[in-house]
Amino acid sequence: MSFEVPEHVLPIRRKVREFIEERVYPVEHILEERSDEESRQTLRRLMQEAKDAGLWALGHPKEIGGQGMPFLDYVYVNEVIGSSEYAQVCLGTHSLQDSIMLNLHSSPEWRAKYLLPLVQGEIFPSFGMTEPDVAGSDPTGLQTRGVLDGDDWVINGRKWFTSGAKNAAYTTVMCRTEDDDTPAHKAFSMIVVPTDTPGYNIVRETPVMGMLGGHAEVEYDNVRVPRSNLLGPRGQGFLISQQRLGPGRIFHCMRWLGQAQRAFDLMCERANSRMVGGAPLGEKQQIQVMIFETAAEIQASRMLTLQAARKMDSGDPARVEIGIIKVVGAKMLHNTIDRAIQVFGAMGVTSDTPLERMYRHARFARIYDGPDEVHRMVVARRILKSYMAGEGWSFR
Ligand SMILES: Cc1cc2nc3c(=O)[nH]c(=O)nc-3n(C[C@H](O)[C@H](O)[C@H](O)COP(=O)(O)OP(=O)(O)OC[C@H]3O[C@@H](n4cnc5c(N)ncnc54)[C@H](O)[C@@H]3O)c2cc1C
Repeated sequence: MSFEVPEHVLPIRRKVREFIEERVYPVEHILEERSDEESRQTLRRLMQEAKDAGLWALGHPKEIGGQGMPFLDYVYVNEVIGSSEYAQVCLGTHSLQDSIMLNLHSSPEWRAKYLLPLVQGEIFPSFGMTEPDVAGSDPTGLQTRGVLDGDDWVINGRKWFTSGAKNAAYTTVMCRTEDDDTPAHKAFSMIVVPTDTPGYNIVRETPVMGMLGGHAEVEYDNVRVPRSNLLGPRGQGFLISQQRLGPGRIFHCMRWLGQAQRAFDLMCERANSRMVGGAPLGEKQQIQVMIFETAAEIQASRMLTLQAARKMDSGDPARVEIGIIKVVGAKMLHNTIDRAIQVFGAMGVTSDTPLERMYRHARFARIYDGPDEVHRMVVARRILKSYMAGEGWSFR
């Protein structure tokens, strides 16, 4: 099995890389200030430039306004997109998971009204699952409720970490719609709530590790939306959520590899150029160990991720493989940036390099989309179950 970038993907991958390095890298410090006007204008300009350059929404299906790149080709492009935390939005790929979910499960009115503007980057999505008072690792306990009243859903509850809610046109809300006797995995549904609906109240934006990351705490106070805002059939919330998260984790892991490559490049260039005691830092054995460990972790993580992507592309949900790459990938990302900062010394923790910002983002990766511990538990259980059934586990 080859892990090389396929020949036919190289030209578009190169174009994407050049766009990011030449146009996104120089303005990352502006894009970081999400809430100010200069940041918004810069983002809009880059989005338009990406469209003009033919680089917009590369992985979205053609029927919803994207360029229809096949999953396995797009995976390699996504790796390059990951090199900047802001490139996803600049290139219109941030809405991929949500637009596929809406395309598959929303009512025709919703598709007509929201899907095209979403894929075109004219509106932004958000997703509300996690609640402050319930362990997000076990979402069967979520307390937000949706009750059918005539032709409307009435939603009450409180969510937090609804990323991007402040600038979003809508939030897809996971809530309990079935009674207490219904088994938890069939009791929750996803309902789409426009953010200008009365009763949808943003209580605060939670700062995270010194950044305003756009993570909103949202109160749902008798929020009333039409019955047709339900995604898919009633009680299918967890199923739809799984469909959304599987490919999403492959995309995350490929982007993390792009971040890691950037940190690794910086680390190696610094090791070769910084002189200590009359010789480059890279001649010190302890620095060489860091470079060795990092190279090995990146390579292993890349192979695991591509293998999971191939398995998924063949129609297998690849649950074990995806659980493994989520944990291994997040750790690899954290270790890589951490070591790069160490090689830079004091400069590594200043904003003179992108590393300190990348490091803060990397820390979140071990928590969102399921903390490490949950993935380890789920993977181990599946493997043990297979042994229990006398089937063992093959690493072929
Ligand atoms: C940057 C960022 C962005 C996010 N964006 C969104 C978003 O857009 N929408 C959304 O709905 N949510 C979002 N989240 C929330 C995220 O999905 C949750 O934080 C995650 O599911 C964990 O839930 P929790 O925070 O409630 O932690 P808890 O469930 O309270 O778990 C706390 C800790 O307990 C440990 N733990 C949990 N379960 C087990 C177990 N079975 N065995 C051993 N240890 C365990 C883990 O170490 C875990 O970190 C975001 C989070 C972050 C950090």
